[in-house]
Amino acid sequence: MDSARALSDARPTPFWLEDPGRPTALPTLVGDTRCDLLVVGGGYSGLWTALIAKERDPSLDVVLVEGQEVGWAASGRNGGFCAASLTHGFGNGLQRWPAELGQLERLGVANLDGIEATLERHGIDAEWERTGEIDIATQPHQLDELHEMAEAVGRYGLDITVLDRDELRAQVDSPTFLGGVWDKDGVAMVHPAKLAWGLKQACLDQGVRIHEHTPASALREHGAGMAVRTPYGRVLAGKVALGTNAFPSLLKRVRPYVVPVYDYALMTEPLTAEQLAAVGWHGRQGLSDSANKFHYFRLSADNRILWGGYDAVYRFGGHVRHEYDQRPETFRTLARNFFQCFPQLEGLRFTNAWGGAIDTCSRFSAFFDTVHQGRVAYAAGFTGLGVGATRFGAEVMLDLLSGERTERTELEMVRRKPLPFPPEPVRWAGIGITTRSLEHADRTGGRRNLWLRTLDRMGLGFDS
Ligand SMILES: Cc1cc2nc3c(=O)[nH]c(=O)nc-3n(C[C@H](O)[C@H](O)[C@H](O)COP(=O)(O)OP(=O)(O)OC[C@H]3O[C@@H](n4cnc5c(N)ncnc54)[C@H](O)[C@@H]3O)c2cc1C
Repeated sequence: MDSARALSDARPTPFWLEDPGRPTALPTLVGDTRCDLLVVGGGYSGLWTALIAKERDPSLDVVLVEGQEVGWAASGRNGGFCAASLTHGFGNGLQRWPAELGQLERLGVANLDGIEATLERHGIDAEWERTGEIDIATQPHQLDELHEMAEAVGRYGLDITVLDRDELRAQVDSPTFLGGVWDKDGVAMVHPAKLAWGLKQACLDQGVRIHEHTPASALREHGAGMAVRTPYGRVLAGKVALGTNAFPSLLKRVRPYVVPVYDYALMTEPLTAEQLAAVGWHGRQGLSDSANKFHYFRLSADNRILWGGYDAVYRFGGHVRHEYDQRPETFRTLARNFFQCFPQLEGLRFTNAWGGAIDTCSRFSAFFDTVHQGRVAYAAGFTGLGVGATRFGAEVMLDLLSGERTERTELEMVRRKPLPFPPEPVRWAGIGITTRSLEHADRTGGRRNLWLRTLDRMGLGFDS
């Protein structure tokens, strides 16, 4: 079958957000209100910040304002790979913070354990499956790179299992797979929207006041605290935490550090028992291939396959817009690549096709700071690996707002910021050259051209 025809019934909405458990929106804020801590943004960053603030001090009065609905953005439409890594993968961490990578990996595992413990404590059913992730080589040079990575991981005393072609294909069968490395414990699969909605309920249960359809439009100092304007009211807060991800930050100085990059995903119909048997996948791991333009794929609880990634699209001007959530040419490419990977699933259809904005920064992992004499903190730049790391980001924001020195605030990763992106049109041109260079490297055995090698030396990058 022409792979594009498999898309003909696909709804242009994120599969996860169609779940009948989607809660109704809470009322918008009308009038003035006061609180100790205001959290702006109702994705994982904001929700974790509000929840952990209450767990640290139940007497704290916490308000959360969300411009649309809790979990509607990246947090409700992602791939659901919840990784321990705080550094957008071991390789990126090794390149940037070799001296503290052991510590970062330990903190990352504690963070993942913390998420799991929170789900248990608050009775959140987010279809959590700690099945790990296999990074897959589909080209010979990627095999060498994966083996080098596995050796480096071993030097840090971390556990990773190398799979040869047959061992890998016994786990999940594709004629394109050459081998892989399996991180058995460092990644969990989760239903992204159920995680966001569960955190919302946990926040409400702890007494957080949440207002949806309440975009914050301005932030200014007010007495000893801050005043934040919303369409029909104002929040007067002692402290403010910003978890607004790829959306324009209320702090203009943060904007040059983040560009919205659109990432896209497809969801198939549920596999029959025969179709599932044809791929195996008894371990239900998350999978990703290791090209620069990579795919990530996984099973849902009802045995659909989510298949996403490959194109990472930046549009001139860096706006976040609803119309960017759909990109038929990317969906066609994804569908074609899906059937190349799993030809035995010929005839399977896609039920959903969607996209969303990723807050990409030039070092691929979050950065943090405070402004207004320590009254406002922010975390941004999670770059496509924020499902787990946003909880760590929330802890960092709360540490910074409390003014305490903690193990987290002493990290170089937390103290230093990435290089900002240049303004337009240089930004657009630079990202375009980088994207084409990465495609070229994928076609030529991974060879990085002069442009990419220069960016590597400068510690600059572009990724989804
Ligand atoms: C298609 C896709 C697939 C992905 N897959 C993965 C994956 O498998 N694993 C992984 O780790 N990461 C993945 N990510 C990234 C991950 O989803 C994000 O890193 C994470 O959800 C970020 O959470 P957040 O709370 O910072 O941002 P968001 O979920 O975007 O939340 C920010 C919220 O702030 C609100 N907001 C913004 N400005 C204002 C304002 N002024 N006033 C009030 N509210 C405001 C927005 O409405 C939004 O709800 C993926 C992302 C996409 C788009």
